[in-house]
Amino acid sequence: MRSQLWPYFGQLLTWDKYAAEQIKTAGYYLDQKFDITLNPVAFVNWTPTETPYISYLMVVDLYRQLNWQPGMTVNGVKCDILIGWTGKADADRTYAGFSVTYDSLYKKWAYAAVLKPQRDWADDNLVQHEVSHLYDALDHYSGDPNFNADCIMTNRKINGTVTIYDRGTYITVQAGTDVTYITNNYCNTCTQTITSNKSRFGTWFYSFPPPDYNVPCGGGGGLVPRPK
Ligand SMILES: [Zn+2]
Ligand SMILES: [Zn+2]
Repeated sequence: MRSQLWPYFGQLLTWDKYAAEQIKTAGYYLDQKFDITLNPVAFVNWTPTETPYISYLMVVDLYRQLNWQPGMTVNGVKCDILIGWTGKADADRTYAGFSVTYDSLYKKWAYAAVLKPQRDWADDNLVQHEVSHLYDALDHYSGDPNFNADCIMTNRKINGTVTIYDRGTYITVQAGTDVTYITNNYCNTCTQTITSNKSRFGTWFYSFPPPDYNVPCGGGGGLVPRPK
């Protein structure tokens, strides 16, 4: 995705500008609701070497290549989370994004995610969803009491076609699209979870012992077509 230009509401942007715009929009909603600020500090090139392109392995590849440690200083600023963007066709086509808080396999705090860009109107939601995982919000699968909520963490798909208004543009979204891509809201459970963890960065590194286990939580749900 590094060499191509990405359609962004009538413009064509390089990957880093595209990512910055999507992070900015996700940050707007996180700031509005939780007072969480997303401040992109540095953009560096990364080429995944781990194949096949399994989402979880790509997160591991990302943080290893960059010698990433949550809380490390980059450009003079302490950085809390790492987000990788990749256009690689994934071997497991289940996830458009994947986040890892504590990597139980490698015994490492990761606080990192990898995103596979989908569409200009969807990728801010993808950022918001994956960052929410880094504050311990969980996916709502079928059977979860919050599955039917208007929540960005639900795995539910929309039944009919809907029109959304996103960044000044009306967009028709097809049936079968993940609710994640079209809402910026949270259910009460996720609101409580993120609220109780919203100050974790800056303090968590010293205060919180690693959990006994932590299943890396994939998200973003089914793919919509990638931007051409
Ligand atoms: Zn929720
Ligand atoms: Zn998820």
